[in-house]
Amino acid sequence: MDKKTKLRNDWTKQEIEEIFNQPLMSLIYQAATVHREWHNPEEIQISTLLSIKTGGCVEDCSYCGQAARYHTNIKVQALLPTEKVIEHAQKAKDSGSSRFCMAAAWREVRNNRDFDRVIDMVKGVNELGLEVCCTLGMLTEEQAIRLEEAGLYAYNHNLDTSEQYYEEIISTRTFDNRINTINNVRKAGITVCSGGIIGLGETNGDRISMLLTLATMPKHPESVPINALARVPGTPLENNPKVDTWEMVRMIATARIVMPSSMVRLSAGRIEMDETEQAWCFMAGANSIFTGERETLLVTPNPGVSEDMQMLTTLGLRPKKRAEEVWMNSL
Ligand code: SF4
Repeated sequence: MDKKTKLRNDWTKQEIEEIFNQPLMSLIYQAATVHREWHNPEEIQISTLLSIKTGGCVEDCSYCGQAARYHTNIKVQALLPTEKVIEHAQKAKDSGSSRFCMAAAWREVRNNRDFDRVIDMVKGVNELGLEVCCTLGMLTEEQAIRLEEAGLYAYNHNLDTSEQYYEEIISTRTFDNRINTINNVRKAGITVCSGGIIGLGETNGDRISMLLTLATMPKHPESVPINALARVPGTPLENNPKVDTWEMVRMIATARIVMPSSMVRLSAGRIEMDETEQAWCFMAGANSIFTGERETLLVTPNPGVSEDMQMLTTLGLRPKKRAEEVWMNSL
């Protein structure tokens, strides 16, 4: 692949604004071109996300059905037994996933028995030959090092929105807390998965500003999830308008152009898109999706594995293999 577009960490807000605001077809064309320089456009990374501890979270993220303070239908579930998690990981692998993400609804990781159990889960999933990812809330550098030593490949910690809009959405932590955890993950040598959500009531300026923060990090996050708000009944944002697909496409395309080497993940909100709408997102540079045997993305609906595999076949796409697997097959 001819990488004509260089990786840059010195983007200005004005440059990203100009990319974001171009006529949509030109934007998609530019993003598709950059995408082809850096990635095989026929490959989609398939990740499986499992909630290992659900609900009862002390944080107040306005979009989240797992916050204890909102009255949602989500059932609280304690940390799953390690064997159960490994079973889920094996099924995910058998269904074509190359990455397995474990999510716990915690404000932060505490150095207790539960963390010891998560460490065992990371080791177990790693032994299955899957890329292991976790999202567990805030982390110290020491905790990140323990996870890295257990074989953690990636840590998800989304920025959610822009620094300016952050306190409208979450009051129990700050944007700087988010950045600190991302820095701790980097220092431990774990890859970073960080993106955000659109449809929270933010402006286009906030969307651009969030992309600016990600694209000017010393190293771009290796994965950038772009989520559309899943309007969970009982949360403060339940009545927000549905995110228009073209807004997702615009966001994905801009992320692809400013962070060419990253995997851009079409995440929450996919359930509300038909195949044609998802195809536009792939054309705009999305090359990663979450799928799952339970047909949920954490606690919100998501298309199931068989439906996704059918869609990939229709679109002439195929699941991306782990880099290690490609290398082994070439021996
Ligand atoms: S998004 Fe995470 S931190 Fe925020 S309330 Fe939900 S589970 Fe807690």
